[in-house]
Amino acid sequence: MYDLVVKNGRVVDGTGYPWFKADIGIEGGLIAEVGRDLTGLDTIDASGLVVSPGWVDVHMHADHTVLGNPRVDSYVHQGITTATMGNCGLSMYPLHKRRDDLIAYLKPFTSGLRLSWDWDSMDDFIKRVETSGLGINLVPFVGHGSIRINVMGFDDRDPTGAELDEMKGLLGESLNQGAYGMSTGLGYPPGTFSKEDELVELGAVINEYGGLYSTHMRNGVENLGDTIKLGHRAGFPMQVSHLGSSCASNPELGGRHAETTLRVLDEARVKGLDITADIYPYTAGSSLLSQVIPHWAQEGGVAKMLDRLQDPSIRAKIKGEFKGEAGLKGRDLTKVYVTYVKTLANKHFEGMTVAEIAEALDADGVDALCDLLIEENAEAMNITLWGEQRDVDVLAAHPAVMPCSDGWAHAPYGELAQGKPHPRCYGAFPRYLRTYAVEKGLFTLEEAIRRMTSMPAARLGLHDRGILKEGMKADLTVFDPDKVRDTGTFTDPHRYPDGIPYVVVNGRLAINKGKHTGALAGKIFRKRRS
Ligand SMILES: [Zn+2]
Repeated sequence: MYDLVVKNGRVVDGTGYPWFKADIGIEGGLIAEVGRDLTGLDTIDASGLVVSPGWVDVHMHADHTVLGNPRVDSYVHQGITTATMGNCGLSMYPLHKRRDDLIAYLKPFTSGLRLSWDWDSMDDFIKRVETSGLGINLVPFVGHGSIRINVMGFDDRDPTGAELDEMKGLLGESLNQGAYGMSTGLGYPPGTFSKEDELVELGAVINEYGGLYSTHMRNGVENLGDTIKLGHRAGFPMQVSHLGSSCASNPELGGRHAETTLRVLDEARVKGLDITADIYPYTAGSSLLSQVIPHWAQEGGVAKMLDRLQDPSIRAKIKGEFKGEAGLKGRDLTKVYVTYVKTLANKHFEGMTVAEIAEALDADGVDALCDLLIEENAEAMNITLWGEQRDVDVLAAHPAVMPCSDGWAHAPYGELAQGKPHPRCYGAFPRYLRTYAVEKGLFTLEEAIRRMTSMPAARLGLHDRGILKEGMKADLTVFDPDKVRDTGTFTDPHRYPDGIPYVVVNGRLAINKGKHTGALAGKIFRKRRS
């Protein structure tokens, strides 16, 4: 008699092996038996449903909201039971020397939640989250940007020897506290101000702890070459984050960005570089609205940027850049949607492009953008259309590319129901399964599940999750293969996906008949030093 038995389902075990019929017996948070005719104190009838390991998201940003939304609703509802945090260089920790600079930068990501911001180290942050509880498992990374801001703010220069030592110290502190690696955000400040030598130096510390280097690259596929060069020099394993948005923005490569990217990736793997990538299944990304502003105007941090944006001569310079050829694609204001603003006065702009807002105000686009950032104290978010669907298809089909959400935790109630966030926050994984496996047939259902489970688990070094077999931790996602789909859209994003009736986290039902049980069975893992 087990604690919980999932009966009569088709088991897709996460290895890519064809589905088979079995019951799953769960006891003490573990998968105790995969067999037949099992009985339990609690039983789920999974007839007609697929039973898979809980889905693992190798790249997301729910850590920015998890203290205000411990249930992590939009993630557990989309079948994700484990996810990384501290991505794109932007971890919520450490908050040491220049904590105010970092807090000002991270605030827009927190969707207006009132957080105490009174932790300092990663260890301290993890303890806060554990106190309030957690709906899914989290795998912590420490952000290079967060470390750099603590030591040298938003300065556009190389660190001095002493500053580099200080950065290494902060990196070592988080790794010693159990971080799985370091993430970078080289496409925007402050990561964009750092050069290869700095990353190689920090790489030595990553290697000391056996960590993973996870990178939001500088934009353009030519930077995949730089990333690979860095990997050969630094010698760490690498995960390229949201590959699509980075490779699509190189105007020189005509219409074959995806093929070029994959050729470069394959060549690096043949040469022995341990590099894999992830992609979110959409042609639009989302970030801070301030990231639409040129990087030079962001130097020095949020307050300095807002001061600059008041200056008519600086606005004129920005206007010149927006009209110029270089970077035109990324700065086309008809493709930049405002998705969240903090003040009530501007809420009606949510869901509109910057170009539409400018038209409504009878203003120039750059002026409208700058005024909005000033009025919102930079607490605003955007969605930017960057790509072609065919590129996303080609990239997603590659066997070294796994799916990610790159989203934030939201919920269709309370403060997190605000704004028009990217629909990936609710539906990235169901969409990957429905659109890319079932409808487009880019891979089988079993292969999709492998890329959503054992592949990211192995990449992160989680050897007790991601495969459904005896002795593994009991994270399960049970879905209807005919009904599973994302339902949120860019105009109506706050919608849970269909067809995921049961989710089990560490042996406890988190979603039961499509409803959150309120269970907070998630844990934050800490990497053990080998
Ligand atoms: Zn990123």
